[in-house]
Amino acid sequence: MFDTVLIANRGEIALRILRACRSLSLKTVAVYSEADANLRHVALADTKLCIGPAPAARSYLDQDLLIRAAQLTGAQAVHPGYGFLSESARFARAVADAGLVFIGPSAESIGRMGDKISAKRAMLAAGVPCVPGSEGALPEGPGAIRRIAASVGFPLIIKAAAGGGGRGMRVVRAEAQLESAVAMTREEALRAFGSAEVYMERFLEHPRHVEIQVLADAHGKAVWLGERDCSMQRRHQKVIEESPAPGIARELVAALGAQCVHACREIGYVGAGTFEFLYEGGEFFFIEMNTRVQVEHPVTELVTAIDVVVEQLRIAQGHPLSFAQAEVQPRGHAIECRINAEHPWRFTPSPGTVTHWTPPAGPGVRVESHLEDGYTVPPHYDSLVAKILVHARTRGEALARMRVALDETVLEGVETTVALQRAIMDEPGFVEGGTDIHHLEHWLAAANKASTPS
Ligand code: ADP
Repeated sequence: MFDTVLIANRGEIALRILRACRSLSLKTVAVYSEADANLRHVALADTKLCIGPAPAARSYLDQDLLIRAAQLTGAQAVHPGYGFLSESARFARAVADAGLVFIGPSAESIGRMGDKISAKRAMLAAGVPCVPGSEGALPEGPGAIRRIAASVGFPLIIKAAAGGGGRGMRVVRAEAQLESAVAMTREEALRAFGSAEVYMERFLEHPRHVEIQVLADAHGKAVWLGERDCSMQRRHQKVIEESPAPGIARELVAALGAQCVHACREIGYVGAGTFEFLYEGGEFFFIEMNTRVQVEHPVTELVTAIDVVVEQLRIAQGHPLSFAQAEVQPRGHAIECRINAEHPWRFTPSPGTVTHWTPPAGPGVRVESHLEDGYTVPPHYDSLVAKILVHARTRGEALARMRVALDETVLEGVETTVALQRAIMDEPGFVEGGTDIHHLEHWLAAANKASTPS
């Protein structure tokens, strides 16, 4: 049991975690870099500690420093949020070895699911459908690789076992490109992730991205909390998320959810997690698991009324889940728009001082943000500054609420993606629903062409 939580993160998610801690009467420790002294959660935390200069490597990513900060402030638990050290098995182990509680799955689970080859192997063993591909890592010999490619079929995708953030992937359309594509992906993977291990999958041409949120306690009980459709992406980064996934049969999603719950039990998973799938031709294919809370978790909270972060904390305290699967009854439709401090069309970062921030409000509107007037968005970190969410009875009503919310949003001083999000809310393909993962980029390319003077 713990009563004080160190929040090893910043920005909107640090504030979100702080609020969850407070609602459970837990004390909080905010650790922050020199660039982040003015963050809202720092002001609200019971204890605050500056841990280093702005570069994340010397603050939010310094594992020893964070553990020493916990010991110094009397925190007995560490919540990693998302990004930074949230999926570091080494950090989870170091936290546990220091006698502290890591709010997340075990280091072993993180390690196993963080390696995409071992994750896929575990999922296949648990009966979860995966994208057809190589059995494990690719061998060295070009002849053997060609034989595997012939059985997978073209087009195929070469992926780094340790890859993440949409990097370390290469599509191969014909055998002539195979050898060099494997070599390049290996080299890239070694440089970026410290491992040259790659594997092969069939490349799906028009998939949707659909993911299942799960919660599993330390007593062998697991539940799934509906799905999220995150197909609106740019450079493999999610831009909009929603639940339920438009147009997919409920029975199909329910069967998938049950498989994910089964998989949690098989792998002994404890905590919050997300199983990510590609959906094409009426079938789901597992691609990876995220062993942490995700940016888009509030979408699920809106449709299920379950507080995912509170549940993470309760699970870490050793409590059994307080509800059964039958009590999870998703209602209505929720949409999240990510607001980044970026140029709305060119996506170049736009750090700077926010001169005016008036978030939207009204029925069914939720805003997750650390912004306030006069806040300076530092250039050192992810550019996400706010998440605007709506919840309504139907998807149509949710879209209407989102249009009103975005129209009402005032965010001045930095460039933001509010205008982009507002334009998407009127884009016929998105309005119809069920777009694939390439839809947003195709639309952006066409829109840019249209706006270029001839
Ligand atoms: P990361 O860990 O870098 O996010 P993922 O394995 O989740 O990598 O893949 C990221 C994205 O790459 C997917 O959302 C999808 O857009 C694309 N992708 C990955 N595997 C395939 C595949 N087999 N076929 C088509 N697209 C894929």
